[in-house]
Amino acid sequence: MTKRRQTREVTIGNIGVGGTNDIRIQSMTNIPTRNVEGNVYQICKLFECGCEIVRLAVTTLADVKFFAEIGKALRAKNIPIPMVADVHFSPAIALDCLEVADKVRINAGNFSDKLSTIQPFSDDEFLVEKGKLQKYLRLFFQRAKNLKKPVRIGINHGSLAPRIIYKFGNRDTAMWESAKECLEVAEEVQFEDIVLSFKASDTREMIAANRLACSKLDEIGGRYPIHLGITESGNGDYARIKSAIGIGSLLADGVGDTIRVSLTEDPIKEIEVAKNILQACGVRRYGIEFIACPSCGRTSYDIQAVLGELKTKLEKIPNARNLKIAVMGCMVNGLGEAGNADFAIIGNPNGTLSIYQNKKCIAKNVPRAKIYKTFTKILN
Ligand code: SF4
Repeated sequence: MTKRRQTREVTIGNIGVGGTNDIRIQSMTNIPTRNVEGNVYQICKLFECGCEIVRLAVTTLADVKFFAEIGKALRAKNIPIPMVADVHFSPAIALDCLEVADKVRINAGNFSDKLSTIQPFSDDEFLVEKGKLQKYLRLFFQRAKNLKKPVRIGINHGSLAPRIIYKFGNRDTAMWESAKECLEVAEEVQFEDIVLSFKASDTREMIAANRLACSKLDEIGGRYPIHLGITESGNGDYARIKSAIGIGSLLADGVGDTIRVSLTEDPIKEIEVAKNILQACGVRRYGIEFIACPSCGRTSYDIQAVLGELKTKLEKIPNARNLKIAVMGCMVNGLGEAGNADFAIIGNPNGTLSIYQNKKCIAKNVPRAKIYKTFTKILN
């Protein structure tokens, strides 16, 4: 099994990201920050569902005040979730946000560069724009360092600075070069509380950018935690599949310290998907891990109904939470395919089921109607 890529711990509010911390789940509210009440409500819901870090868009200097109000209201309700300010196009807003947020996320592509800048760029023009970005970043990182506030440098495939695209193209190399410009300044002012993200709506671009960035970071000893996510993935099954492939591939590589599943749905839905991705990748456990065969002509009972019943009912049993349970149609490949499950429920040719614990039969020929009762008796 691939080992998790080593990163340093960055503290965001009251939680750690990176190092040996669990891979954190985060989300973002989807209503204007000036709607203080609405944001407080949404964040409380997200927190209840298991969201560990929440981000809010801060689009104006006035929003900074609303952001602080939301934080105050959450503290009054004893909701200790770290709050991240999401800033685009304005070093001034980003600086102000450092005062009130637990972390500030900036976009390297538009922190100071203008997306509308006309191409082509001469080398001199490129350096002028780069110099401007680094001047603002110097101030920003220095303030973040003084206030002990972490920063995420977000590199988005869809919003790279035009001069970066002109010089390096718009692929993974350009995304790395954009991050490198920021990291040069961070190193200069010795500011290390940085989380990096390399996002794209194209799954393969996102995977390639993260892989390239990690190999470059390994070369220079850059141990910044990595935030993973697919941008603009949309909604429904397709969005979930895209996120699972993009985020999951990197988690399987051992890369990733925090994840955000972006859905064009209620943000609460993102949390369940994030939990499923983490559990499916074997990096965090949130409930029972079910293994079930698809069934075939050898199955002699209604496997879909049994799996459904066990899933719904066992969720409520606390001592079942950490189990791996296999539900298999038949014995042909049953025990072998059940892998290292703690329990296996396997169909017999006569329509009954048998229960195995660590591959040893502990209940034979249980009628279908009694399977849940028999199994819970064993668990208790
Ligand atoms: S375990 Fe048995 S019933 Fe299930 S798919 Fe395999 S052969 Fe078919």
